[in-house]
Amino acid sequence: MSATEMNGKELSKKIRTELAGEVLQLKQNGVTPHLTVIIVGDDPASQSYVRGKEKASAEVGMSSDIIALPSSTSEQDLLGQIDRLNKHDSVHGILVQLPLPDHINEQHVIESISPEKDVDGFHPVNIGKMMTGNSTFLPCTPYGIITMLKAHDVRMEGKHVVVAGRSNIVGKPVGQLLLNENATVTYCHSKTENLTDYTKEADILILAMGRANVIRGEHVKNGAVIVDVGINRLEDGTLTGDADFASTAAKASKITPVPRGVGPMTITMLLKNTIKAARGLSAVGK
Ligand code: NAD
Repeated sequence: MSATEMNGKELSKKIRTELAGEVLQLKQNGVTPHLTVIIVGDDPASQSYVRGKEKASAEVGMSSDIIALPSSTSEQDLLGQIDRLNKHDSVHGILVQLPLPDHINEQHVIESISPEKDVDGFHPVNIGKMMTGNSTFLPCTPYGIITMLKAHDVRMEGKHVVVAGRSNIVGKPVGQLLLNENATVTYCHSKTENLTDYTKEADILILAMGRANVIRGEHVKNGAVIVDVGINRLEDGTLTGDADFASTAAKASKITPVPRGVGPMTITMLLKNTIKAARGLSAVGK
């Protein structure tokens, strides 16, 4: 078998065109969706992600701003900024770029964002709503993965999904969303013994470990659908996923490339969540 590529860049382009239409409609009704991104410190990767979010917002006609704070910013100051934005009517979405410097408690920060403006979908209220299958802001990467699987007509119901990785932002929520789609979900993680015994059994394999090229063709089932979330930079500067693309694509029926796979979908879902927030269709009370 030779896999069909699930290209997130192309799908994102299509979805962003639709989102631009929604933004236009909102603007005609006097509402310009606005995203505020807070970045603390000068980590180059985080700066590049933040710029990407600003550019994507502008492309669909939304407005955005970046609040860049020095790495010495205290937790109290950061919480004060978030409190101000929570109360600001024309700010619809608030995103704090992670990771934060060690002296700031990430969980305090996530919990300080109003659930109605939590377009990253990390607030415990929104996570709880996701767990119970209620309308909410879904975390962007898992939301992007589900959207991509649906767009490629991947049947999830009744399928065995193996998720390798259990982080709060990718592994755990993507498994939950697949469970909500009636899949049977197995989670693997760094303490799992014999990981490949599980990956070989997956109808849908979600790789979110951040381990370059560790899953090879012999570790996947014939005809499997592979979603490679991993982004790993090799010594020569090239980006690669957790799957060895050539050997896994030879056995899979569908696979996401790295780059141009899940990455662009993540930002697209952030735009979608912000537009939803601007519409007032947020998790709380609606
Ligand atoms: P993380 O470091 O928080 O979590 C990694 C997870 O992988 C952990 O749960 C760990 O237990 C598991 N793991 C690590 N080594 C393992 C092994 N050998 N066997 C089994 N499990 C193992 O990372 P994260 O934030 O969830 O991100 C995972 C990867 O996805 C990274 O490469 C990251 O860059 C990428 N990522 C991509 C996007 C995107 O938009 N494409 C978004 C977020 C993260």
